[in-house]
Amino acid sequence: MAGNKLTIGNVEITSLSDGLLEFDVCNFFPSIPDEAWSGHEDHLTEDRKVNFNLASFLMRSDGKTIIVDTGLGPKPAGAPETPWGELLDDFKAHGIGPEDVDMVVMTHLHRDHVGWNLRSKGGKYEPTFPNARYWLSAKDWEACHNPDLVKDRFPNAPECVWPLEELGLIEFMDGEVALTSELTSLPTPGHTPGHMSLMINSQGQRGIVIGDVLHNAVQVHETDWVSRADIDPEQTRVTRRSLMEQLERDGIPVAAVHLAAPGFGKIVRLQDRRVWQGL
Ligand SMILES: [Zn+2]
Repeated sequence: MAGNKLTIGNVEITSLSDGLLEFDVCNFFPSIPDEAWSGHEDHLTEDRKVNFNLASFLMRSDGKTIIVDTGLGPKPAGAPETPWGELLDDFKAHGIGPEDVDMVVMTHLHRDHVGWNLRSKGGKYEPTFPNARYWLSAKDWEACHNPDLVKDRFPNAPECVWPLEELGLIEFMDGEVALTSELTSLPTPGHTPGHMSLMINSQGQRGIVIGDVLHNAVQVHETDWVSRADIDPEQTRVTRRSLMEQLERDGIPVAAVHLAAPGFGKIVRLQDRRVWQGL
């Protein structure tokens, strides 16, 4: 791997970023007591915050250009000082135009994964990626229309997700769906009801994009630590436990949206601890 690229068989993944999000640790992990972090301080910033890269993985497979997740979107006035809204600049820096994208795939429909889907012009929505079909989970589509969930859980869905239907751009993922001959959706529910990972299988090599199964590398070991962003805590734990066990056992390279850029690593065991090992 060189820099922000990872190759799995014939599939090339480039890690782009829309910026960073940062929270106080007790705010993001409200059920984890402060003392439980002792020994895990290297997963926090100096002032005891957790921060998340906002990766978008640009993938090439079967001659198609695919972007997985579209960040937070344009930075609103009054937003925190952290970098935000940088995805299209990062596209440009890599010599790619939004028109080059054939498929937009969303791991789930939380606000930090759908932000650049659409742009509003003269009161009308237009796709930011004009030649792309937009792939999203059927279960999350249902969830983001649930009046009990939309305000707190899917706050930008009315602007960034719902209009895709009228534009006729949606392809639904329900269960394991082949996106290309090398990429298949894998349901990893809990964080959202329809959360999807993406399995890569090419030339006998495997890899996986895991979306928000991990928010912080500490969860590779502490698989039961759920955050306030996990809609179904118990299902989140079940999914994370089994996926971490499998990824450790099989040594599969992982692309994680929110871990430190570029977000490529493996799950390995060091003595009695399971850890994230960056590639
Ligand atoms: Zn997220």
